[in-house]
Amino acid sequence: MIKKIGVIGAGQMGTGISHVCSVAGFDVRLTDVSQEALDKGMATIAHIMDRHIGRGWLTQEDRDAGLARIAPGLGMEQFADCDLVIEAATENETVKRQILTALCPHLPPECVVASNTSSISITRLGAATDRPGRFIGMHFMNPVPRMKLVELIRGIATAEETYQLVRVVAEKLDKTSVPAEDFPAFIVNRILMPMINEAVYTLYEGVGGVEAIDSAMRLGANHPMGPLELADFVGLDTVLAIMQVLYEGLADSKYRPCPLLVKYVEAGWLGRKTGRGFYDYTGDAPVPTR
Ligand code: NAD
Repeated sequence: MIKKIGVIGAGQMGTGISHVCSVAGFDVRLTDVSQEALDKGMATIAHIMDRHIGRGWLTQEDRDAGLARIAPGLGMEQFADCDLVIEAATENETVKRQILTALCPHLPPECVVASNTSSISITRLGAATDRPGRFIGMHFMNPVPRMKLVELIRGIATAEETYQLVRVVAEKLDKTSVPAEDFPAFIVNRILMPMINEAVYTLYEGVGGVEAIDSAMRLGANHPMGPLELADFVGLDTVLAIMQVLYEGLADSKYRPCPLLVKYVEAGWLGRKTGRGFYDYTGDAPVPTR
């Protein structure tokens, strides 16, 4: 039975995962690279929970109990009594491999390790651990407290028992899980990211401006968010990283990342998290930049 869950990375996803796990009654251990990143992550969780109280989605009591169940700390030693550790650090294979190598020696042998990677091979990441049978992809959607889906990705070595265990955890988090095979970007991002990349090409080639492209897809395809708005929300570095995984993993030029997307990432314009992407977020309302 899973009682204590470790979360690695206190960014957008790690904070959301900690939020839902703690509210569902699991004890959570959260880590990041620095105390500053941890403080920021904890403040984000408290802020989002407060917003959920305001909207009637969470009671003050559940918020207080949930927050109290999250213990932030530096170092991998704190995961020594965890039943499941979910890695949600930066989408970079080298970073993730280093984390897994440093993590495993501290874990009890039966502990399951999951990665929230959006696109990297679960089989390859699993091979960087001492427990490929107990390693699995657990791909949450952003924002985690709001989005119902979790993709569960079995690597070639993942045991059925591991899959069933995390399926039950997903259920306890009030999520619906879908199984996906271990191919680059799995299901959601295999379809979603090329669409976003195509929207950036549409902007790059001058077919439409930022607002025209987003309005067209919201009103013309009934999407709740335009693709460029969505790209800013996901983080342009993450979008680029996933396109590179698709491009290299499937060796097909149709996945070539748009040069404009590359330029934005090189400029540090990563979307909402840096205050600028396809929109400028420094004022009261987002302003299109092109
Ligand atoms: P983010 O940039 O908001 O957060 C990443 C965090 O990882 C940062 O706080 C960073 O300091 C931390 N980190 C980096 N190296 C670390 C290390 N060695 N040890 C501990 N922490 C470390 O990114 P994010 O959007 O939260 O994405 C995290 C993961 O979730 C990625 O694998 C991404 O592909 C995946 N994901 C993202 C989304 C999305 O919409 N943003 C959706 C689903 C999955």
